[in-house]
Amino acid sequence: MLKDLLSPEKTVIITDENVFANHKRKIKNWKTIVISAGEENKVQTSVDNVINQLIELGADRTTTLVGLGGGMITDLTGYIASIYMRGISFGFVPTTLLALVDASIGGKNGIDVGDYKNMIGTIRHPSFIIHDLQFLNSLPEIEWNNGFAEIIKHACIKDMALFKELESIGVKKYRNKKTELCSLIQKNVLLKTKVVQRDERETGDRKLLNFGHTLGHAIENQYGLPHGQAIAVGMSYASELSQKLLKFQHATRVTDLLQKYGLPTTMEWDKDKVFHVLKMDKKKQNDSIHFILLEKLGKAVIKEISLDQLYATL
Ligand code: NAD
Repeated sequence: MLKDLLSPEKTVIITDENVFANHKRKIKNWKTIVISAGEENKVQTSVDNVINQLIELGADRTTTLVGLGGGMITDLTGYIASIYMRGISFGFVPTTLLALVDASIGGKNGIDVGDYKNMIGTIRHPSFIIHDLQFLNSLPEIEWNNGFAEIIKHACIKDMALFKELESIGVKKYRNKKTELCSLIQKNVLLKTKVVQRDERETGDRKLLNFGHTLGHAIENQYGLPHGQAIAVGMSYASELSQKLLKFQHATRVTDLLQKYGLPTTMEWDKDKVFHVLKMDKKKQNDSIHFILLEKLGKAVIKEISLDQLYATL
């Protein structure tokens, strides 16, 4: 519980309008800043808006910010806390499946600049992450599906047993059986935490977490897709590329699993527009990009691919 960790006088909660509408009674005694929902608000204007409100509320270096929401809110809150008064402490209460298993963990936070995802940000870890699964009671079905995109990613890159589990269970069962859901969240939290602990600055293994994200990030904001859907399309593409370049044999199993969890695996895109954004990917070095491919299910590898070669495959 938040009140066991913090005092309401020294805390400001940052949340979005949907989480606030559904859960305002839970936070009625806490100072709260509510921002508009949606990825289009993970931008500098929201940072300025929140900082102005923090100043009005008298927030100082002893204040703790709490990001209560999905990945959009946790990314934004972590970033604001990292720059406000040169850095104040912060914690998260993730309210989407995606934020529970992924976005709240690992210290990466930041904002988008137009079509470019997470172009500005810092690496700084929250002091705490509280899991209160009651928040998931109001989570729309489509956001459950979006959360599974990152879970399927974890399975593809690191955990064949998890991949098989996901093939044999389904969204409905995880939603209805608390034990299965808790165990799934715990597995994914541990998987991501271990990767980050070994390679916080993304010089090696942490890059694998970008499976599906190179193309995913290039289409997400341009086509207004939710993050989970964008990376689902990105993972399908990366699986097919793995088949071509590494003789990966299970591209269809990956797309079938994504579809089982209600995620898209194909879409039409404008090759030049997508390539234009993709070229600015943070994993680009000179004229090539570190692309994450699958050697087999549960084993991802980093492959350097030239931008020309990538353009040809798009
Ligand atoms: P989100 O925060 O935009 O939430 C999705 C939608 O669900 C929003 O409309 C939100 O208002 C609503 N919502 C959230 N919790 C709810 C609840 N309990 N009840 C009802 N509605 C609720 O998106 P997301 O899918 O949680 O996260 C995607 C973001 O996370 C992207 O910006 C992505 O870049 C980022 N991300 C960051 C990391 C990281 O390591 N920092 C990792 C993965 C993703």
